[in-house]
Amino acid sequence: MHIFLYEHMFAAGHPNRLIPIYNRKKFFPGVDKFLKVCYIIYREREVNKMMNKAIYFDMDGTLANLYGVNNWLTKLQNEDASPYTDATPLVKLNVLARLLNRLQANGYIIGIVSWLAKNGTTEYNAKVINAKMEWLTVHLASVKFDEIIITEYGTPKEMVVNFPNGILFDDEIANRENWIGTAYDVDNIIEILKGLN
Ligand SMILES: [Mg+2]
Repeated sequence: MHIFLYEHMFAAGHPNRLIPIYNRKKFFPGVDKFLKVCYIIYREREVNKMMNKAIYFDMDGTLANLYGVNNWLTKLQNEDASPYTDATPLVKLNVLARLLNRLQANGYIIGIVSWLAKNGTTEYNAKVINAKMEWLTVHLASVKFDEIIITEYGTPKEMVVNFPNGILFDDEIANRENWIGTAYDVDNIIEILKGLN
């Protein structure tokens, strides 16, 4: 699973902080080195599991009201990425941004973990990534996210983040149930964040 994760993240150009210390060119000269690097990744992920000062947000239905955009589903099926940029915020973003900056200053990792559209083509996936990044830039400009993971529909979120023992806010019950750390629905995001220190 760790090998898969490494390959997956590398392929996606994922800015995993564990990865940049390894160079892909140096990675395959021998099985011994390969195993050693796998072990290092494994060990660092074990260390990461102990770290729970991390907060991740889903986007669609959690921060962004994608499902409130007119004809969102038809548009997605027609590979139109506009619903992702048109989605209105579901939380008070100025309050959220202030809280996230405070928590980050207190040592929390702040991240996004969000899925692409179901059955999207490569071209559409690229458009959706751009649209989601644009949404974050427009609506949460002052937040400097430590991790932004926009990944294939259905990817287990706890498998692709650096700190799965942290907190997840997600409107999908399956994501919350599978999450390793503490997972919350979307009703009291601000109040829950205010209670953290
Ligand atoms: Mg969602």
